[in-house]
Amino acid sequence: MREYETVIGLEVHAELKTESKIFCACTTEFGGEPNTHVCPVCLGMPGALPVLNKKVVEYAIKAALALNCEIASICRFDRKNYFYPDLPKAYQISQQDFPIAAGGYLMINTPDGEKKIGINRLHMEEDAGKLVHAGDDIARADYSLVDFNRSTVPLVEIVSEPHLRSPGEARAYLDHLKAILEYTEVSDCKMQEGSLRCDANISVMPKGSKEFGVKTELKNMNSFRALQRALEYEVERQIGLLKEGKEVLHETRTWNEQKGITEVLRSKEEAEGYRFFPDPDLMPLVIDEQWVEAVKTTIPELPADKKERLMKDYDLPEYDAGVITSSKSLAKFYDSCVGLYDDPKEISNWLMGELLRLLNTNNIEIEDSPITAENLVELLKLQDEGVISGSIAKKVFEEMFETGTDPETIVEKKGLKQISDVGELGQIVNGVMEKNPQSVEDYRGGKERALKFLVGQVMKETRGKANPQLVNELFLKKL
Ligand code: ADP
Ligand code: ZN
Ligand code: MG
Repeated sequence: MREYETVIGLEVHAELKTESKIFCACTTEFGGEPNTHVCPVCLGMPGALPVLNKKVVEYAIKAALALNCEIASICRFDRKNYFYPDLPKAYQISQQDFPIAAGGYLMINTPDGEKKIGINRLHMEEDAGKLVHAGDDIARADYSLVDFNRSTVPLVEIVSEPHLRSPGEARAYLDHLKAILEYTEVSDCKMQEGSLRCDANISVMPKGSKEFGVKTELKNMNSFRALQRALEYEVERQIGLLKEGKEVLHETRTWNEQKGITEVLRSKEEAEGYRFFPDPDLMPLVIDEQWVEAVKTTIPELPADKKERLMKDYDLPEYDAGVITSSKSLAKFYDSCVGLYDDPKEISNWLMGELLRLLNTNNIEIEDSPITAENLVELLKLQDEGVISGSIAKKVFEEMFETGTDPETIVEKKGLKQISDVGELGQIVNGVMEKNPQSVEDYRGGKERALKFLVGQVMKETRGKANPQLVNELFLKKL
């Protein structure tokens, strides 16, 4: 038993995928030549005035409703003042005292069952530009360039309550949050492209303590794995300090992926003077009941409901349904397959097994999967019809993944058709029996397992192409 308890709260920033930025008409498209998606507003030119993008408000309401939040009937934008070269106005337009939404929650699965994680607030804000350090490393760069394409791209910030009790729970929360934002189609949620970013607040305290410990804030984790590793490292570091009788300092730390450690970025005490005040260039925003109701009707089936439905409609185990619905694209892929082929569990086995394995090892997103739903289903049919064996199917699948070719072409070209010719198989079976007299004797002497070995030998000789059922039958007859 550990004598310390971990407390975690996450602050997640999601870029909204509106066509234009939050306060100007520039495109939000990712990438592009530096400083080509800009105008006087998002460059922070003196005198340029922001105009709120209605779609941003709609997306924020949509996300907030999906997260069970209350929508404020009136909210406001504030200026968060600080200096940094990627922030041309020297303030970020955000929402401090009156956010658009608050008081929500989402459910996560833990080893001890379902758990409700509170969401303190959701608010809208603008993104900053991006610094490009000469030589890639801020510490050694001679100079840095600024790209303002991302400046004023809309964000929602979603702040959790400190309800998470382990790095695993934090991961589960982020997984579910990402799925909800994807399902509602308000964000792409690509951590690599920075459209989903997560800061983690973490503290430890003696078990049963009524008061939370001093927290640190972790930044710069750019994958789900990095988040979990950074938190795991930080738990150990903080407990180590307490055990030595030292104190945890209230500071912002950055995750160093290469070294696998967190490092001090700045001490909180010296940093937090943002001098928030209401932005005089933007009117308070009034959101009426009708608008909220209208947005409510656009919310599609959410991951938790979809999971329930897959379990009910297709009799899928909870685990399968959870994995498949954890990503909108994977769920979509699954739907396409089930529409074409009537064996939901077989499809889920292939998706969760072979497909996810190959996608992960090759770092490819399901949207870019070289294997289409149609081709996967065609493969399963070839297997059902006995044209190919199960082990060959796996090989064909890998080939499909590498080349994007359809399975029939691959089977044809590589001569992978299953051998179901009794005469041909009989000869091979005879040969194997001759070469393995000991196994034949063993089987006849009652060792049933010897049969498996003999069948295996035939499969080996035919490089997996023999029809295993037929081979089995032939052996039984001859033995
Ligand atoms: P701050 O004043 O530092 O901005 P907030 O109270 O606004 O802190 O909380 C920011 C985030 O930190 C929230 O996600 C919250 O759940 C989390 N948090 C607050 N206190 C703790 C704590 N002692 N340990 C871990 N997380 C915490
Ligand atoms: Zn602009
Ligand atoms: Mg705060």
